[in-house]
Formats: sequence, structure tokens, C-alpha cells
Amino acid sequence: MTNSETKACQNCKKDFTIEPDDFVMYEKFDLPSPVMCPQCRIKYLLAFWTFGRFRIAKSALSGKTIITVLPESVPFPIYDRAEFVSDEWDPLTYGKDYDQSRPFIEQLVELQSEVPHPHQTGIKNFNSDWTDDTWESKDAYLTRSAFLLESVNYGYRVIGCKNSIDLTFCWYLERSYDCFFCFKSYDLKYSFNSRDCLNGSFLYDCRNCQDCFMSWNLRNQKYCILNQPYSKDEYEGKLKEYNLKSRETVEELKKEFWQYVKNDAIHRQNYNTQTVNSEGNILTNDKNCYQCYFIEDSENCRYSWRGRGKEIIDVVSPFDSEKCALCALDQFGGYGNVCNLYTSSCRYSAYLDNCEECEYCFGCVGLRKKKYCILNKQYTKEVYEILVEKIKSNMKKSGEWGKFFPLSSAYCGYNISLAQMMFPMSKEEAIKFGAKWEENVEPHYENITSGDDLPDTIAEVKDDVIKQRILCPETKLSYNITKEELAFYREHNIPLPRRHFDWRTLDRFKPFSLMITPQKGTCYFCKKKIEHYYSPELGFEKIACLECYQREVA
Ligand SMILES: [Zn+2]
Ligand SMILES: [Zn+2]
Repeated sequence: MTNSETKACQNCKKDFTIEPDDFVMYEKFDLPSPVMCPQCRIKYLLAFWTFGRFRIAKSALSGKTIITVLPESVPFPIYDRAEFVSDEWDPLTYGKDYDQSRPFIEQLVELQSEVPHPHQTGIKNFNSDWTDDTWESKDAYLTRSAFLLESVNYGYRVIGCKNSIDLTFCWYLERSYDCFFCFKSYDLKYSFNSRDCLNGSFLYDCRNCQDCFMSWNLRNQKYCILNQPYSKDEYEGKLKEYNLKSRETVEELKKEFWQYVKNDAIHRQNYNTQTVNSEGNILTNDKNCYQCYFIEDSENCRYSWRGRGKEIIDVVSPFDSEKCALCALDQFGGYGNVCNLYTSSCRYSAYLDNCEECEYCFGCVGLRKKKYCILNKQYTKEVYEILVEKIKSNMKKSGEWGKFFPLSSAYCGYNISLAQMMFPMSKEEAIKFGAKWEENVEPHYENITSGDDLPDTIAEVKDDVIKQRILCPETKLSYNITKEELAFYREHNIPLPRRHFDWRTLDRFKPFSLMITPQKGTCYFCKKKIEHYYSPELGFEKIACLECYQREVA
């Protein structure tokens, strides 16, 4: 076994360690050891994950109107997804011969800029055109990364939610609003990290609670305000004292809520559940995972983010992927792949972009159900094997082998990628990193209202607000209120949002961008040394080791 090795990161210059287990895995994939630290590697891969702005465009094949989050700056033609998977065009007509006098990745990127890409991923949706990466959903609107939704607006990473607005990273919520990392709840508002709750607002780390308000770390409680139980009548009377119809009140309460989360709530040293021998945060049901985040039902994963897999290293958004390395969005049972981007159900392949159900393909773009192709050219098995060996050996000699696609070939600029969400950079920093930057192309509107000038309470809002274009003072992006949305706000007594929906999503997600770096600390209760994940910027007072958290809270 190779000993651990400490190197300086090529990007941030900080020292990082390559562990013996890392060497074992890289050797299995025939990959060189990494030149960047784990965090820079993740930043790099996350920069390929589009969190783009919805826009109306035309399919380059048929002229059909499409809604896409791919920016206008992409070099390739965009096809409507149904047309992309049809027989109306043939990606093999873009095939190129390998030119051994030039770097392979350069040839691949050239091909990538020519071959059409689908306008979005996601299928089996009904009345959900304004979505991206959304699957089997009905009436979803301006929503991304979603599955099994019914009537959800402005969702991000949502599963099984119904009749809700402004949910981020929530599963199985109903009639809920403005929640983050909440699960299996009904009528939940302004809450974070809560589960199995009913009729709650401003809840943090509550489980199985009913009719609770501005509370934290509660288990199986009813009628609590500031963690104090009341009778039903007292509770209802006290709640009436808050003018929740007012945006100003809600904003004040949100600030108050965060003060309690910071100063009074007890935080478990990590957000992991049912993990064995694993390191990282926001892990669920994982075994032998190392430096992983947002990973569930997984085994033997290293430096991987969001999704599930087995024996993977440096992978972002795996989905039932196995034995894959250095991939971004290589999904749906990807097996034995290296350096793939936005592919699904491919096996034994490397350097693919946007391919589906391919096997033994190398350096291809936009292929479906193909075998033995290189640079979108069909070969026989024998010729394929010889040529791949030759390309790999040339790439190894030039130091190209094991490098991912260049950042310049990402579909979007850093600022509208998931990397910006987790590791925000300024334009200058992103460009120095090698990434692109997307300029704001918001059209000019006459008669636009500033979000700050919207009525304070929902009671003052007139029906014609749905005809108004609203300018977000924070992002300078415009948005509007839909008829269904207005009905929801009126029914739930929610004041109109004064910021653009993307700003709201990013703002909600922000705490997690501060929970992805291991920190050395001590347990607030027993003073034992612990490793936790709360950045000092969060200002959390009471961080507890697992034992103390169990005793104090659960
Ligand atoms: Zn680094
Ligand atoms: Zn402790």
C-alpha cells in the first residue's frame, strides 16, 4: 500500500493529503493522483452543474418554443429534448478522426461545441415546462431538481411535495412555505431541519411536533412557543398577537428565529444519520464513505457529492453509480466510467458528454445506445480497443490523462452553477480559477415595480398584482406573481415575496454552504474534542457531541 502523501494544491496552494485508500482507488481506475485539494476538486466539478436562469428559446432542429436553463452563451445547438432523443438527426454525422498531433481533450471540446444538446433533462412531466431536471411531476413551476411533485412553485431539490411554494431540499411536504431541509410535514412554514411536524412555523430541529411556533430541538410536543408549552386556547390567543400577514413582521421573526438557532439551539456535531465508518456531512444510511456530502444509501465513496453510489471517487451527482471516478452528473446506474459529464446509464466509458445508454465509448458527445465509438465515430470492437489504448497512452505521455473537461467547456458560467451556491466566488476569482462568468441579460421593462414597494401585508394586495413585473432590488432580476401563487398566499396569509425566487433559494441554502468543511472544536456540554461541520461564520453557540446531543435533545 502506498503511504499517504502531502502535496500543495495547484489551485489554492494549501497542503492536502492523499490517503493510502485514495491511491488504491485511483490505481483501480488507472488514474494519476490528484493535483488539487478535495475542496478545489469539488468546486471544479460543481462548476459543471447548471443552476441556470429560465429563458424561452427555440429548438435549433424544429424551431419549437422551449424553456431552458442553458444560457445563450453555449456554443452548441439546443434541441427540444423529445427531438434530441428522436431519429430525426444522427450524432454520428458529427464524427471526427483522432488527430494524434493535437491534445485529445481539445478535440473533444471542439466536438462538444458542435453536437446538439437537449434543452433539459427530466421526463414524464405534466404542465411543468418551466422546470429543469424535474421528473414525473405535475404543475411544477420554476422548479429544479425535483421528483414526484404536485403543484409546487420555486422548488429546488424537492421530492414528493404537494401544494407548496419556496421549498429547498425538502421531501414530502404538503401545504408548506419557505422551508429548508424539512421532511414529511404538513403546513410547515419558515422552518429548517425539521421532520414529521404539523402546523408549525419557525421551527429548527423539531420532530413530531404539532402547532408549535418559534421553537427548537423539540420532540413530540404540542402548542409550544419559544419551547414553552401552552394550552390550546392560550397558544391560539398568543399566536394572534403576531401579525404574520406582514412582510415586515415575518422578516423580524426570521431574524429572531436565527438568533435562537445561533444562541439557544443545540446542534448535533454533524447532520448524519445511520452512517457507519463515514466522514462528511449530511450523510444518510452510508457505509465507509470518506469526505462525502449530501450522500445517501451509499458505500465506499470518497470525495463525492449529492446522490448515491458505490465505490466512487471524485463524483458529483452520482445516481446509483458504481465504480466511477472523476465524473460530474454521471447518472442512473453509470458503471465503470471515468471523466464523464452529464451522462446517464453509460458503462465502461470515458470522456463522454451528454450520452445515454452507451457502452465502451470514448470521447463522445450526444450519443445514445452506441458501442465502440470514439469522437462520435463508429469502430469495430477490435479497432476501438487498439485506438483507445493508443489515445490513452498519448494522453498519459502528455499529462492529459485523468484531467476532467476544461472549465471553459462547462455549459454555464461559474456564477450560475452549483459551485457558486456552495463556494461563492467573485467574477475575478472565478476567472482566475479558469471558469466562465455569465453576465446578467435581464431585458428592460417599462412600468416595473420594485420588490420593496410591494404592499406590506397580503390583505392590501390587489388582484392585478399578477399583471405586474417586479424588480428584485437584490439581484436586479425581474419576476412576477402568478394567479395560483397569489391564491396560495391569500389562503395561507403569506405576504408577497420581495426578492427574486433564485435569490430566495440561494439565501435559504446558505447555511449548508457553511456546513461543508470539517472544523476542530469542543462539545459545548462535555468539553470533549470533536470534529464538527459548523463554520464559525454561522455563530452557533451550542455544538454538541453525539452523546451529549442524545442526552440533551433526543
Ligand atoms: Zn485547493
Ligand atoms: Zn459532549
